[in-house]
Order: sequence, then C-alpha cells, then structure tokens
Amino acid sequence: MSNKNFEESKYFKEISKLLLTGATMMAESCPDCNVPLFKKKDKIFCPKCKKQAIYASTENEAKEIEQKYSFSETQATLQDILTGKMNFLAQKIASSEDIPEIREILNLIKEIIEVLQNLRNLT
Ligand SMILES: [Zn+2]
Repeated sequence: MSNKNFEESKYFKEISKLLLTGATMMAESCPDCNVPLFKKKDKIFCPKCKKQAIYASTENEAKEIEQKYSFSETQATLQDILTGKMNFLAQKIASSEDIPEIREILNLIKEIIEVLQNLRNLT
C-alpha cells in the first residue's frame, strides 16, 4: 500500500469514527487541505489536519484571530527554544570552574526565566 493510500484510509477511518460519534459533515471545507470540515458539539474542525476551525464574521475579526494564533505559535516556539537554552546553560555551569563565568551564566538564566514568566503572563 502506498503512503498516499495509507493516509487516505486513515482519513476515511477517522471520518467514519466521527460520524458514528455524532459529528456532522459541513458544507465548508478546510482552507489548508480542502477536505470537508466536521462539527461536533460547538467545535468545527478538520479531520485531516486535526485543527480546529474558527469562523470569523468580519474581515477584521478574521485578522484578529489569525494574529492571536500566530502569536501563540511564536510564543510556544520561543518557550521551547529558551527552555532548550536553559538546559544548555545548566550543563555549562556543571562543567565550568570559573566563578565569573558561572555568575554570568546564572545571570543569563535569570533573564531567560524572566522572559518565560512574561510570556506566560501574556496568555
Ligand atoms: Zn485540513
């Protein structure tokens, strides 16, 4: 079975599961992959990308939602990067015997923690 067929059968399985659990197929399709969107309770989502779709009634609202989403993505990426850097710095401290260097690294870690806290406060 080719990869594409495998993907498709996975998708159809997902759809039948959705229909069995009371989800309904919508007339609109996913802007990313073009498959029909599904609705369950109050949530509209794409069964293929597993993303939730949000309806915006105005152009401005659509822009706002898009900005909010791309911001939270950036935020998550930044959190990942900074957490990785903290691990790196902690290892640096572990291997360093130079007091001024350790102090400098500790200051950096303190700054990273502050940024992480600020990021969390934004949401
Ligand atoms: Zn999709």
